[in-house]
Amino acid sequence: MRLLVTGAAGFIGSQYVRTLLDGGHPGHERARVTALDLLTYAGNRDNLPASHPRLEFVHGDVCDQALLRELLPGHDAVVHFAAESHVDRSLRSGADFVRTNVGGVQSLLEACRTTGVRRVVHVSTDEVYGSLAQGSWTEESPLAPRSPYSASKAAGDLVALAYGHSHGVEVSVTRGVNTYGPHQHPEKLIPRFVTNLLDGLPLPLYGDGRNIREWMHVRDHCDAVHRVLCDGRPGEIYNIGGGTSRTNLALTEQLLELCGADTSMIRRVPDRKGHDLRYSLDGSKLREELGHTPRVPFDRGLAETVEWYRANPGWWKRTKDESEGDEGGYGT
Ligand code: NAD
Repeated sequence: MRLLVTGAAGFIGSQYVRTLLDGGHPGHERARVTALDLLTYAGNRDNLPASHPRLEFVHGDVCDQALLRELLPGHDAVVHFAAESHVDRSLRSGADFVRTNVGGVQSLLEACRTTGVRRVVHVSTDEVYGSLAQGSWTEESPLAPRSPYSASKAAGDLVALAYGHSHGVEVSVTRGVNTYGPHQHPEKLIPRFVTNLLDGLPLPLYGDGRNIREWMHVRDHCDAVHRVLCDGRPGEIYNIGGGTSRTNLALTEQLLELCGADTSMIRRVPDRKGHDLRYSLDGSKLREELGHTPRVPFDRGLAETVEWYRANPGWWKRTKDESEGDEGGYGT
């Protein structure tokens, strides 16, 4: 199998590629990967091996039709992770979000259609469903995005599915819960709080911390995406749920404990504009159709993640320094 993976230098895309190159997806130990990434502030070439016999890295933009048409022939499938992914940035300026998360999807699907690449997995998010007080969203729940980020992702989902319907590209869409693990940019909640604590800095907790998120380890998210790639039905949406729900405050307290600090490190900051209260996915379709259940227990995954940041200051200190001056909150 030869795969094009977009956004492959980002948090989840790079985990997906590393697992594939390490032989972590049985039956695909010989898969070849073209890793396409624009290396925005969120992309880091060091997230991937410097060289590997089955990896080719291409520095480029998913909005670049000419590049895609040159690259795609010979590939069996595309896994599309590339996106602008930070809610708070989308509140300050939504333009890049529409460009990449909507225009980039159209560009990619158009190039797949014209070059005859039939299979595409479009990676999306639970945030497209909005916010809910109780219960969980199924794949049939209405789209009700509430931030420029989630609206652009919802629009991208519809564009991707429409290319399947109109042009026969075999598109499946995944919608995953909040994801955590190593190599996540320190602008996001868990790495931001862990690296602040490692630096002895306070934790800027939004509002009253009552917002609830469902969390899944990045390896489990990637495993789900790979199952959808291999056995998911074209034209279908698969929620990647089954994670662990925590209020932001409870998560913060757990991180404080793991880092040997106490609640005096918490600084309440004004809430994010339009902050969604709660996300929760019903993951039964993916479990029943494709047999996916998350394997990394949250407490263990979180402790390992803290240890990874503790052991890799060189990775996050540079990234954090480069983002300094980008004021604004942490993404969840
Ligand atoms: P990330 O921000 O860490 O990585 C995104 C990558 O895309 C970066 O490497 C960036 O350089 C690249 N990129 C951005 N614009 C590009 C363009 N125009 N052309 C090519 N590459 C471009 O994001 P992530 O957390 O790894 O998320 C990956 C995907 O998963 C996204 O589509 C996101 O919406 C989705 N998702 C993320 C989460 C989460 O909690 N992180 C949860 C559910 C779904």
